[in-house]
Amino acid sequence: MPTNRSTALSLFLSRPKTPKERDNAKISSYYGENVFTDNKLRSYLSNDAYKAYSHTINNGQKISRELADQIAAALKAWAMEQGTTHYSHWFQPLTGSTAEKHDSFFTLSGSGSALEKFDGDALVQQEPDASSFPSGGLRATFEARGYTAWDPMSPAFIMDIAGSKTLCIPTVFISYTGEALDHKAPLLRSVEALDKAATGVARYFDRFVNKVTATLGWEQEYFVIDKAMYYARPDLMSSGRTVFGRGPAKGQQLEDHYFGAIPERVYAFMVDLERECHKLGIPLRTRHNEVAPSQFECAPMFEVANIAVDHNQLLMDLMDRVARRHNLIVLLHEKPFAGINGSGKHNNWSMSTDTGTNLLGPGKTPRNNLQFLTFFINTIKAVHDHADLLRASIAAESNDYRLGANEAPPAIISVFIGDYLTKVLDAIEMRVDNDLKEEEENELKLDIHKMIPDVMMDNTDRNRTSPFAFTGNKFEFRAVGSTANCADPMMILNMIVANQLNDFKEKVDKHIADGEKKDSAILKELRECIKSSKNILFEGDNYSEAWAKEAAKRGLPNIKTTPTALDAFTTPKATKIFKDMKILNDKEQEARHEIYLEKYIKKVEIESSLIEELALNQILPACIRYQTEVLLNIKASKDAGLSKGACATQELLAESISAHINATYEGIEKMRVQREKAEHQNSSRSKAIYFCDHVKPIFLEIRDHVDSLELIVEDSYWPLPKYREILFNR
Ligand code: ADP
Ligand code: MG
Repeated sequence: MPTNRSTALSLFLSRPKTPKERDNAKISSYYGENVFTDNKLRSYLSNDAYKAYSHTINNGQKISRELADQIAAALKAWAMEQGTTHYSHWFQPLTGSTAEKHDSFFTLSGSGSALEKFDGDALVQQEPDASSFPSGGLRATFEARGYTAWDPMSPAFIMDIAGSKTLCIPTVFISYTGEALDHKAPLLRSVEALDKAATGVARYFDRFVNKVTATLGWEQEYFVIDKAMYYARPDLMSSGRTVFGRGPAKGQQLEDHYFGAIPERVYAFMVDLERECHKLGIPLRTRHNEVAPSQFECAPMFEVANIAVDHNQLLMDLMDRVARRHNLIVLLHEKPFAGINGSGKHNNWSMSTDTGTNLLGPGKTPRNNLQFLTFFINTIKAVHDHADLLRASIAAESNDYRLGANEAPPAIISVFIGDYLTKVLDAIEMRVDNDLKEEEENELKLDIHKMIPDVMMDNTDRNRTSPFAFTGNKFEFRAVGSTANCADPMMILNMIVANQLNDFKEKVDKHIADGEKKDSAILKELRECIKSSKNILFEGDNYSEAWAKEAAKRGLPNIKTTPTALDAFTTPKATKIFKDMKILNDKEQEARHEIYLEKYIKKVEIESSLIEELALNQILPACIRYQTEVLLNIKASKDAGLSKGACATQELLAESISAHINATYEGIEKMRVQREKAEHQNSSRSKAIYFCDHVKPIFLEIRDHVDSLELIVEDSYWPLPKYREILFNR
């Protein structure tokens, strides 16, 4: 009887190996082709309308309905020239993926004739039924209305799916009562908060600065496997990860995959993906193999944070679509394969002024360096003060499998800055005020400028184990999960840094008002920041046991699982900062906590049922069939009069299979009982914690037995594609 696995293997072997011919057009000839860029808007709008639009956008004002009508007309003209028939508000509900509700341009006039219509109303606002999106109680079903509202900062684009083109309009998603129901609205609020706070501080150094934008360059890790293998693994299909599977004899021990040659089929996929991305204005630049077999990474040039977030969401969507065309599947889960490295999404973050300065770029002059140090040190202080919130921002059921798994940063948030900058901070901290007073007469004669030459960027050492590392001219938040929407971690980072910069500025201004010179006032406060936050700095191996101990001594939180990590969202400290910075109100904050807990619970429930189902109707039956064969062999040997002991191995094997079958079954029974208990907990939090502490650990117990069975049961009986088949097939 053929198994799903054997069918998958033959399908895989019949795949054509040579990728199709392609034209090698220059990227610049199609880059942004499917985006309604500013240039296109300008050419489709009247001069006056474009001027009004630019003015409105640059000053962060609201676009009038009249102007919206003109923009809608321009959009429609462009989109229809491209053969677009439908439009959709594109948004990022708290489900984790993106959502679209397609409407047609087509409508009937009063006289019944067909025509295409799209006006300002349709551009600015839509009303998708919000009742099926998570709202965490923000919206009772009787007021199921939710609105998507146009985000004019993110350009509209055309998605070309199965030959049909849809105009997508990036939007935020809010409830009837105005609360954010998505990832994007709070992110935009945080971008604004950071702009205000950082502009204030940047003006100490350059009075021409009028705007500061948060920048984000993500690096996306992912696995690529054959589609047939995927369809033969129900666990990959429903939970994104393998719940069973013995590590292959050859895994990543030889470390031969990282930066190795990219297999041709995957290469062909990457090239197609890049082309789709480039047409949509996603500036992908790098592609390479990652550490694990079949694992890869891509990264774009960095962009304004909110656009980069949209682009990462689009990328994840495109990856799935494009891979399927190549009979491949992209796995974004943080830990699809036990014992093999997982995937992350490094978020490279910085701040940049409208005068073209990267505020985390060390400068060449002492004055520029003071600016760099100000933003650098304030970021460290913010991370120190709100490490728990940053940890919460990356908490997800799937990321729990990766964080702290000796391949990814631990759940302890610390900051790596390298030897060089450690010395600089020490120097600033040690300097006594008297010293400074003399020196400041002569501008700012700190040694800082000597210590940070302009080769700085290449000079910083790397620490791959750090969750939050300074990498020359940006911080790299490395603990973000590969499936995550970058919006949450970016929202928190922008917010805590904005809050810290406000606080810093208030204190510096006070020193200045008290008669102190500006540079000296700044240094004084920087010193305070260093003193109070230096215990978050860690230069060593974050994977080591010693660090976990040391971190505990330092009082740094080490929260390993999502349900408790999420507590940070509801502390009084969190409430205060969310409110002060106008990022989330009480209701939104509570709702988010609730939604994330619910999501956690659902994920564990799904995996638990999956394990039960796979074990009961695929694994155990296969093992029983094989065991019958072994028993028949024993019986036949005895019937044939072979000596006692001639079947000792078969007997041991049959016993061993029985033992593992029974243990698997017992595990499942135990899991059912615990699941039942979990369902009866009286709050989402206690339910999530119960699932985490009492249901999840049983997954591993069951897996242990199933993986042992995988080793002893004859290969052709095994129903699920094995790791070596999934991971090493090219
Ligand atoms: P790595 O060695 O970590 O792979 P790369 O040099 O490839 O680092 O850069 C990683 C990411 O950092 C890229 O997406 C890049 O665009 C981004 N990046 C560079 N400068 C900045 C910046 N100022 N702000 C945000 N991201 C940045
Ligand atoms: Mg990196």
